[in-house]
Amino acid sequence: MVAIFAKRALLSGGWASNTRVEVEDGRIVSLQPATAGQPGDVCVDTLLPALANLHSHAFQRAMAGMTEYRLAGRDSFWTWRDLMYRFTKHLTPDQVQAIAALVYMEMQEAGYASVGEFHYLHHQPDGKPYDRLTELSDRIMEAAFETGIGLTHLPVLYSYAGVGEKPLEPGQTRFGNNVDRFCKLFDQARDALGGLPDDCRVGIAPHSLRATSPADLVRVLAARRDGPCHIHIAEQPKEVSEVQAGLGARPVEWLLDNVQVDDSWCLIHATHMTDQETLDMAATGAVAGLCPVTEANLGDGPFNGAVFLGAGGTFGVGSDSNVLISLTEELRTLEYSQRLRDLSRNVMVAGEGSVGKTLYCGAAMGGAKALGRDSGEFAVGKLADLVAIDSQNPALCALTSEQLLDGLVFAAKDQVVTDVWSAGRHRVSEGRHIARDQIVSNYRQAMTDLLAKL
Ligand code: ZN
Repeated sequence: MVAIFAKRALLSGGWASNTRVEVEDGRIVSLQPATAGQPGDVCVDTLLPALANLHSHAFQRAMAGMTEYRLAGRDSFWTWRDLMYRFTKHLTPDQVQAIAALVYMEMQEAGYASVGEFHYLHHQPDGKPYDRLTELSDRIMEAAFETGIGLTHLPVLYSYAGVGEKPLEPGQTRFGNNVDRFCKLFDQARDALGGLPDDCRVGIAPHSLRATSPADLVRVLAARRDGPCHIHIAEQPKEVSEVQAGLGARPVEWLLDNVQVDDSWCLIHATHMTDQETLDMAATGAVAGLCPVTEANLGDGPFNGAVFLGAGGTFGVGSDSNVLISLTEELRTLEYSQRLRDLSRNVMVAGEGSVGKTLYCGAAMGGAKALGRDSGEFAVGKLADLVAIDSQNPALCALTSEQLLDGLVFAAKDQVVTDVWSAGRHRVSEGRHIARDQIVSNYRQAMTDLLAKL
């Protein structure tokens, strides 16, 4: 059993002082407010439920900073994607693992306890499967094991280059599976999960309406037994017009009309929605998987936030391309994207209230739901996904408890994070992952080897 003593804790019922938390088998088994710490307790300042990072393509971290140079002509999401394809030509399994371990470590140091890995890099560079079909899924799981992060692994069905079953392009051969091979891969990945702690999960991820077909979508959903289902949707205007031309409706509209979308779904981005699509999506209970830093970086556009929140929609955040891994930056970019578009302030809150608290607690609940993870709030019986922050940091020291999450979201950096537990696994202490040196050294070596090949 592990025990934590927190001067202040954000429990599901509100703020509490001098709280002792006992954790057993990854879950919170007792919570005692207004008590004293005991010898051996890990003592922290302020303890919060930790967020899930609901959308990551870990390998893309390695190209961060390499696509910010303006070339003749207009740079776009699609030129960024071309570079990403060139990059994937050379990645080896060892490199995939080293990059993922760095990414997960950075997520934990930023205050995330878990990650949804939307994993579409499956095969060898020439498109042939590895001897073990799940070689690269295995490497993602190894990285999760190494770092201790809570993993929801989401193998991706990626079959076509565009709507209308366009054949894959040369840059996409490492991603490709038909439904039959995908189902095999998924079953093997589920079996491989046995090597990870109990809180880890698998789910499925049809890549997008571009990369699957309506018939394949029906087949793969029929094969799903449990676990979450994630899909990229309506990220770019070009994608909206392609789906509209090929399937006769806008992406979110088409999905909601043709598939039984419920609260086990997570719709990644959902950037370009009409108000009606936004209301219809909110009513399904599906989580909007928002990736504000990446969406800003790729020029995707802002989410229809006020309408979605007003309709009681559920959202969470993800770091997607991992160009920057920062929990506070994701949440504040989400709000700032709304302010810049609406020429307004305090948009992401329904009615009156703290924007920071709405964003933080909303993303905690929505993120956990999207990952099929029994966490998202600080209560007995829940997984011990917890983050401690230092409220004595100059960015926060003048704030009351009620202002603290506003301070965290708008005025602080991730450096205020002191400790993180993923289902009770205490891997960040004094702001540093306990395996940081080894993970960084492996990453540097992987990048040296990779860059020599590019
Ligand atoms: Zn993505």
